[in-house]
Amino acid sequence: MRNILIQCLFCAFLLFGIWIPPLFIYFHHHHESYQNNTQESESLLSLEKYGHQQILHNPGQIPRPQVVTNPSDKEEPKNNDFNFSDPELTSGLLKYGLNIIVSKSLGYQRDVPDSRNAICLGKQYPTNLPTASVVICFYNEEFHVLFRTVSSVIYLTPSHLLEEIILVDDHSEYDDLKEKLDGYLETFRGKIKLIRNKEREGLIRSRMIGAGHASGDVLVFLDSHCEVNRVWLEPLLQAISKNPKMVVCPLIDVIDEMTFEYKASPLVRGIFDWNLQFKWDKVFSYEVEGPDGPSKPIRSPAMAGGLFAINRHYFYEIGQYDKGMNFWGGENVEISLRIWMCGGQLYIIPCSRVGHVVRNHLKRDPDLERAVIENYLRVVHVWMDEHKAHFLNRRPALKFKSYGNVSERVKLRKQLKCKSFQWYLDTIFPELEVSVNFW
Ligand code: UDP
Ligand code: MN
Repeated sequence: MRNILIQCLFCAFLLFGIWIPPLFIYFHHHHESYQNNTQESESLLSLEKYGHQQILHNPGQIPRPQVVTNPSDKEEPKNNDFNFSDPELTSGLLKYGLNIIVSKSLGYQRDVPDSRNAICLGKQYPTNLPTASVVICFYNEEFHVLFRTVSSVIYLTPSHLLEEIILVDDHSEYDDLKEKLDGYLETFRGKIKLIRNKEREGLIRSRMIGAGHASGDVLVFLDSHCEVNRVWLEPLLQAISKNPKMVVCPLIDVIDEMTFEYKASPLVRGIFDWNLQFKWDKVFSYEVEGPDGPSKPIRSPAMAGGLFAINRHYFYEIGQYDKGMNFWGGENVEISLRIWMCGGQLYIIPCSRVGHVVRNHLKRDPDLERAVIENYLRVVHVWMDEHKAHFLNRRPALKFKSYGNVSERVKLRKQLKCKSFQWYLDTIFPELEVSVNFW
C-alpha cells in the first residue's frame, strides 16, 4: 500500500514538479517581453496622430489639470488650424514637444494674465521674508522657453528676496544652449549661476547639484518651461517662514504647448493611484468654504514634482532626494510620502501661480520608462510597508525586477522616526485605501 502511494507521489512529481519551474520562467519572461514589445511598437508616434489630439504622457509627467473655461472665452484652436506641412513646426515638435514658431514669436519676455483670485490681490506680505534660491534644471530645452522662464523670475520677484537663480544644464546637446546662452544670461549678471553637468545626471541628481550651490534660505525648484505670475514668491516664502517644515507648491497654471496661451487652473490637490501615477484631484468643498476659501492653502497628499519651495536646511534634514533614482519620475511621490510621514507638511498655495508648459513628447524613451519603473520600486519598497502588495499585484512582473540598493533610504526612514504608511493612509490620504478595489 505504502509503495503504491510512493509510486503515485513520484508520478505526480514527474508530471508537475519538473515542469513547473521552467514553465514559470517561460511565462515570466514572456510577460516581460510582451510588455517590452508593446512599448517598442508604440515608441514613435507619428505626427499624423498628433493631429488627432494624441497626447502622450510619460509616466511621472506633470499632467494637465482640467482648465476652467469661460463660456465667453474664444474658441480653442484645433490641431488642424496649425500647418503641419511646415517643417519648422514639425521638427520643433519632435525636438521640443512644443510649437517653436509661436514660442520664438513671443520673444524673451512677455506679460501673462494675472490668474489669481481677487482675494489674493488684497494680501500684504512682510518685507523681511526669507530669501530664495531658484533652481532650474534643464535638458535640451527650447531656447526662448528657457529664457522666458528665467526672465519671468527676474522681473516678477522682488530683488531683495531673490538670492540667485541656479541653472543646471543636465548635459544638453543643443548648440544654442552653450555659448549663446552664456552670452544672453550676461543681461542678468550677478543673479545667475550656471552649472553644467559633465554627463547627464537626470533631473533628480541635477536638483541636488543645484541645491548644493545654493545659499538662499529657501530652495525653489522650477522646470525650465515655466512663467511665474505676479507676487508668486511671497506667499510661498511666508508659509515657510511661519513653519520651516512646511513644503509648498504654487498652483500650476497651464501654458498651452501649441498656442502658448496662459490658462488659469482650478483649485486642485495632488494625489496618486496604486500605480503611483500622479493625478490632480478636486478639493473638498469644506476646504474652500468661507470668504477666504479660494485663497487658503490646500492640504495635498502629493506634489506634482516640478515646482515647489522648501526651507534649504529642511531639504537636507529630510534627506533631499534618493540618489539611487535615475532620470525622473517617482521622486515626487517619494518626497511627498517622506514629507508627510516624517513630520512635515505639504500644501498648495493658490495665491502663488506659476504657468507650466505640458510638453507633448512624441517619442517614447524606453530608457526613461525603465528608470521610472525602478524608481517606483524604490518608493514602494522603502515607504509603503505591507501596502506595497497593492502596487506589485497590479504589475506582477515587477515582483522579480531589481531596483538597486535601498538600505540607505531605509536607514534614513528609521533615523527620522517616520510614521507608517498606514498612518499616511489613515491621516493624509484615506481615499487611496478606499480605492484599493477600484483603481
Ligand atoms: N530634466 C533634466 N534632466 C533630465 C530630464 C529632465 O534636467 O534627464 C529637466 C527638464 O528640462 C525640466 C525638468 O527636468 O526642466 C522636468 O522635466 P519634464 O518637464 O520633462 O517633466 P514634467 O514636467 O513633464 O513632469
Ligand atoms: Mn515640466
